[in-house]
Amino acid sequence: MQSRRDFLQKLTASAAALSFTSYAAAAAPSVLRESQPYDGPVLRVAIMGLGGYGSRVAEAMQSSKMAKLVGVISGTPSKIKDWQTKYNIPEKNCYNYDNFDQIKNNADIDAVYVITPNALHRDQVIRVAKAGKHAITEKPMGLNAKECQDMIDACKKANVKLLVGYRLHFEPFTLEVVRMRKDGELGKVNFFQGLSGFKIGDPSQWRLNKQLAGGGSMMDIGIYAINGSRYMLGEDPIWVTAQETKTDPQKFKEGVDETITFQLGFPSGAVASCLSSYNINFLDRFFLSGDKGFAELSPATGYGPLKGRTNKGEINQPVVTHQTVQMDEMAAIILQNKKPVIPVDGEEGMKDLKIIDAIYESIKTGKQIALKL
Ligand code: NAD
Repeated sequence: MQSRRDFLQKLTASAAALSFTSYAAAAAPSVLRESQPYDGPVLRVAIMGLGGYGSRVAEAMQSSKMAKLVGVISGTPSKIKDWQTKYNIPEKNCYNYDNFDQIKNNADIDAVYVITPNALHRDQVIRVAKAGKHAITEKPMGLNAKECQDMIDACKKANVKLLVGYRLHFEPFTLEVVRMRKDGELGKVNFFQGLSGFKIGDPSQWRLNKQLAGGGSMMDIGIYAINGSRYMLGEDPIWVTAQETKTDPQKFKEGVDETITFQLGFPSGAVASCLSSYNINFLDRFFLSGDKGFAELSPATGYGPLKGRTNKGEINQPVVTHQTVQMDEMAAIILQNKKPVIPVDGEEGMKDLKIIDAIYESIKTGKQIALKL
């Protein structure tokens, strides 16, 4: 087996080679290393919440090289059995929501990926931190900025890392537009449009339950436009205004937003105009405009393939499985302190919740809300 030092040396050599390629490609290690055997350090992950997205992450992680699914935490014994069979997970790495604090005695698990309904993220991450394991949590990181701060504090205190599952921060089309903006190819950027929405089905699902979701479309899908405005423009907003419309108060009860339009102002003078909806289909478009050119991603946030163009033509990038690359990159962040192009740490997650808090406040008061991120 290769020593850690050998591995790091190899990594440095390949990093030097990669510096001649675009960093969008560098962000996709699983693509680049597809043909290379890998025997370096591996992040051993337990997934908490074996639902729709947990299943997607588990499947994608089978192709990750630096991250491996080794454990599960679930309240449903039959699901645990299925996953054990499917992914060869030993009994000793299986937990439920009552006993998962015992994971602290399990030396074979490095990190827990929390993929449960939004309202559970805070307490579950804090328990993971107290068990001495690194925590990855799905978006939205918590229900509000205060919850995010609690999670950050707990992970700091326990000396573990806290990451938020922002898969697009490692996605090649996304990173290519960020590179173009950074390299000045679009000139001075001064406008971003983010459209994020879909028509949600089953009215009984947790996403439409204020208690479990913490809100409506904004917590689930609108957050992509918020997050996107920051990484596309490359700065954090200083004010927000927002307006809500509701056409179906039966389905979208008190505290569950159906459609919200919002505007963000940035220190450079750039503005963003965004839409979040649970009742409009085919909303998945980012548009970034500068005085020399534009870039558009449409779709911008789906599982892929994403598609993009600029004023000069189509954007060509490798099509990857987002979660495969995400887990490789997160393993590198946790195990090797790798610095991602777009951060995915707790502070990054909390910024989006500070904006969401302000969006809800703006809707309530009808006022522009100042932001201090
Ligand atoms: P889901 O309903 O498919 O799965 C949720 C899982 O949590 C289920 O297995 C359910 O049994 C479990 N659970 C545990 N405690 C529960 C409780 N008290 N009530 C209800 N369910 C409980 O949902 P999902 O689509 O997998 O979403 C889970 C999280 O992942 C959410 O925070 C969501 O925002 C996030 N997500 C992220 C992406 C992404 O692209 N990053 C995509 C989808 C979902």
